[in-house]
Amino acid sequence: MTMDSTLALDVEEIRAEFPILSRLLHDGKPLIYLDNAATTQTPTPVLEAYSDYFNRYNANIHRGLHSLADEATAAFERARDTVREFLNAERVEEIVFTRGTTEAINLVANTWGRANLRAGDRVVISEMEHHSNIVPWQMLSTELGFTLSVIPVDARGVLDLDAARSLIDERTRLVAVNHVSNALGTINPVSELAALAHAQGALILVDGAQAVAHARVDVQALGADFYAFSGHKIYGPTGIGALYGRLELLEAMPPWQGGGEMISKVTLTEGTTFAAPPHKFEAGTPAIGEAIALDRAIRWLTNLHFELVTEWEQTLLSHTTQRLESIDGLSLIGTAPNKCGVISFVVEGAHSQDIGLLIDQFGVAIRTGHHCAQPLMQKFGLDATCRASFGVYNTLEEADQFVDALGRVIKMLR
Ligand code: PLP
Repeated sequence: MTMDSTLALDVEEIRAEFPILSRLLHDGKPLIYLDNAATTQTPTPVLEAYSDYFNRYNANIHRGLHSLADEATAAFERARDTVREFLNAERVEEIVFTRGTTEAINLVANTWGRANLRAGDRVVISEMEHHSNIVPWQMLSTELGFTLSVIPVDARGVLDLDAARSLIDERTRLVAVNHVSNALGTINPVSELAALAHAQGALILVDGAQAVAHARVDVQALGADFYAFSGHKIYGPTGIGALYGRLELLEAMPPWQGGGEMISKVTLTEGTTFAAPPHKFEAGTPAIGEAIALDRAIRWLTNLHFELVTEWEQTLLSHTTQRLESIDGLSLIGTAPNKCGVISFVVEGAHSQDIGLLIDQFGVAIRTGHHCAQPLMQKFGLDATCRASFGVYNTLEEADQFVDALGRVIKMLR
């Protein structure tokens, strides 16, 4: 796509839409929020869409005949179509609302997985998965007896594609990998992995939690069979996310949770028939206001011009990486050539936890710990790293203030 060269992000204008970014901490220090991989902040238009729902048309959806129920149902289903368009899914029925990425992956494990996996089969994950794309498969493999195999990462935090080629074999039923690593920022070659999986008749599930806010995602171009993401990592609320699944897969999958909304007919004598996808997988009252707010968040982000968002975050990433590289004793963990705006690092002679606590005193919010990726930490021989992660509202000045504060913290700790 060619981009109008006069287009530019007005980061100050964007920041003005996030009241939280003007918070002062610890004796008047401006908040520098660099924990966007954990959760992003929420702009005013999204908060307004949420409160507008509660102020004007709060009602349960799908079954009501009154005006409020109609309006709420229409807005909820519009949100589904916004997600469809955002991911470039072909059909709106391919979008299932979930509580987030974790629930979306558990849904696939408990429906498709339970119906299709058995002893002798193989599921392939990677060494850089978040626990939410490890534990559901471990739990299921203990129960069903299939083999769980792991694509290793190299010292830069890049997937070993030769290993992937030999692991993804005729026994493989599913490859489950993240699009972008939350702990390293590595962007994984999802379409290549999809091609490897499909060549063996296997499916691919992509954990898109760290991807959707940072680069345009096209599930059809990627060749994803399932794609999962969370609203709170894309400037929307918690409690909402989505699973994309190819329609023929969703149609063949059994339901998971039972209850209202997901049925066609319930009888006490002849059992129950189920609704068609996506409703078959949406038992109970969903997070209606959250879905409507997610719709607004997606439209807010895409209105900024996605190419500019990606470009800006790459600028923040390379500027900060360069400055961090000049700090004595600091090692970057994850140096893949293809990265999103996530920087993990450790510092010789300083515990990550101490760095996190002390840098908070300068108003800087970074994350420290294992980032729910303990196997990856084990690979690097670490318990924890410090992680700074960018959102579209971060500035180069903030990046510099972060690096300066880090320098002072390191001096205090050595
Ligand atoms: N996958 C990745 C790569 C993540 O970064 C996260 C959250 O940090 C998740 C999955 C889980 O997301 P959620 O807690 O919103 O379900």
